[in-house]
Order: sequence, then structure tokens, then C-alpha cells
Amino acid sequence: MNRIIPILLSLCFIISCKNVEKDVAVESDSSQNTMVADKADFAIVIHGGAGTILKKNMTAEKEAAYKAILEEAIRTGYEILNSGGSSLDAVTKTINIMEDSPLFNAGKGSVFTNAETNELDASIMDGKTLNAGASAGTTNVKNPIDLARAVMDNSPHVMMAGAGAERFAQEQGLELVDPSYFYTESRFKSLQRIKATEKVELDHDDKQAFYDPSIKDHKFGTVGCAALDKNGNLAAGTSTGGMTNKRWGRVGDAPIIGAGTYANNATCAVSSTGWGEYFIRAMVAHDISALMEYKGLSLAEAARTVIHDKVGGLGGDGGIVAVDKSGNMVFEFNTAGMYRASMNDQGELTIKIYRE
Ligand code: ASP
Repeated sequence: MNRIIPILLSLCFIISCKNVEKDVAVESDSSQNTMVADKADFAIVIHGGAGTILKKNMTAEKEAAYKAILEEAIRTGYEILNSGGSSLDAVTKTINIMEDSPLFNAGKGSVFTNAETNELDASIMDGKTLNAGASAGTTNVKNPIDLARAVMDNSPHVMMAGAGAERFAQEQGLELVDPSYFYTESRFKSLQRIKATEKVELDHDDKQAFYDPSIKDHKFGTVGCAALDKNGNLAAGTSTGGMTNKRWGRVGDAPIIGAGTYANNATCAVSSTGWGEYFIRAMVAHDISALMEYKGLSLAEAARTVIHDKVGGLGGDGGIVAVDKSGNMVFEFNTAGMYRASMNDQGELTIKIYRE
């Protein structure tokens, strides 16, 4: 007995040291990704995709171009929120700016499918009512986030896909374009590069071809936004071209409510970017909200748990931006970088690209 007590005491000491180490690590890492608010009136946070985004591969001009669009986008949303507009309007208009830029994998800059087409996905959610709208696999709708919004506002459905969704967009008077509008040389070249590697390295193993991280385009580029408005209403939205070389009508996480997008006034609003198959399986956006609702975690703790332990644990990569009902904002990702920005109710702007 006399010998057991000291052994038990030292075991307790070792366990408590481990916990301290873990807590310190979480704190120091998340402090750079968390914008803490002391009950903010409103807040807005955006992403333009996560991935292998390294400073050494970036030119000063390219970096400036990304930052300029991120700033234009977030200021658009900020102005709407500052003048008392809704988080839903802020999310929609902010995403429109990024959809119209060729720099991001959404709208104009969407990536190519294996069949050399562009199939776009989007979703939006209202945290007040838990209403939601989504569209998948459209080829001629200029701004898919507007279609997602129309599905939510003007139809009895939550999600529409393909030709039916395009018909609905037309009936709603949304701007339609010729599919060639989505052609950009750089995205087309990315597809050709991936196809060439696929042929040499993997030959005919179709499943492997899409999933092998060494050949997939490691920059995701989806765009998303989460916002809190002056009425305490949260909203989130996400828009994407999906993943380069996708086949067979593949749909990713971006239009899946609970995976790519989720908003609930009781907890938070979240938009995801990353390897969609993993984000669907981990139900990323809803899981963050659920950890807050059922386990009482903070937004930062919940985001970290889901992105690192859950998505990372499965072997997936990507990130999220999110805002909670008090206006705390979080960027969380397990990739080298994520195009991201936030603005609080004081007008303080943060724009970041790399892990810093
Ligand atoms: N999550 C998107 C998808 O899997 C890709 C991205 O984030 O760029 O379709």
C-alpha cells in the first residue's frame, strides 16, 4: 500500500502535465485564428479556399490581387451589416464579389470536371429560421449563391440539382451565361496537368485517380462567408466549382447543409472549404454547432476539434471560417494556408493567406 500511493501520485502528475501541455498548445495556435469579441453588434468572416498555399510559390502581384478581392468582398458585407442590413444579404453579396473574380474556385473561376465542363455548387442558411437553400451541378447560372438563396426564399425545397435547378434559375430571372463564361486558362491547364499525371501514375484506377492527394489539385479555392447582423441573426453561405477532375456528377460538401454550410442563432454560422468527401463524412459545419450546443464548447474549441481531430483523423484536409452569436470569429484549417478575412463591428480588418 505504501508503495502504491507514490506511484498513483506520480501517475496523476504525469497526466496533469500532459493536459497542461495540450491546453497550452491549443491556446497558442488558436490565438492567431480567433478574433475574440466582447459581445459585438455584428461581425463578418470570409474564406477563398484552403490548401497548399505557400509564400514561396506566390508572387507579390498575385498576393496583392487575392488580398484586394478579399478586402472588396468583406467590405461589401461589412457595409450591409453596418447599415443595419441582414446577415443573409451580407453573405450573398460578399460571395457574389468572389464568384465574379477568376481568382477563386467559384463562379467565374470554377475548376473543370474530367469531362472539361464546369459544374457549380452552392448553399446558404439562415440561422434565425433554420431555412436553407442549395443548388448542385449547375452549368449556366452566373452566381450560384443567388440560386441557393432563391431556392430558400422562393421554393418549398432545400436543394435543387442540374437541369431542374437551371430551369428554376431561369424562372426566377437569375442571370444565366453561356457555359464558356466559366472557362479560364489556368483552371483548364490544371485539369490537363492532373489528367497527364493520372495517366502516367495511376492508369485506369478511377477511384484512386480522384482521391490520390499527390495528383489532386491541392488548392481548394471555394468561397464562403459567415456573418452576424445587428439583430443577432447568423447566416452562412458557400459557393464552389467543386474539385478539379471530378466525374460522374460528383457533388461535394459545399451545397450540403451541415457539411459545407450551417447557421443556427443558438450557436454559430460556419462555411467550409476542403476535400469535400471528408467534409461530408465528418458533417463539419453542423458538428461544430453541435459541439457548442450539446457539449458547451466555445466556437474556437469546437472548430479545432472538428478540423484537426475529426477531419484530420480521417485523413482529410481543409478549413472553415465561423462566427458565433456573440461575434467571436474563427479561422481554422489543417492545410498550409487559407485565403481569409474578417471584420468586426469596430471596422477592424484582418486579411491572411498563410499559416501565421
Ligand atoms: N469543398 C469543395 C468540394 O469538395 C472544394 C473546395 O473547397 O474548393 O467540392
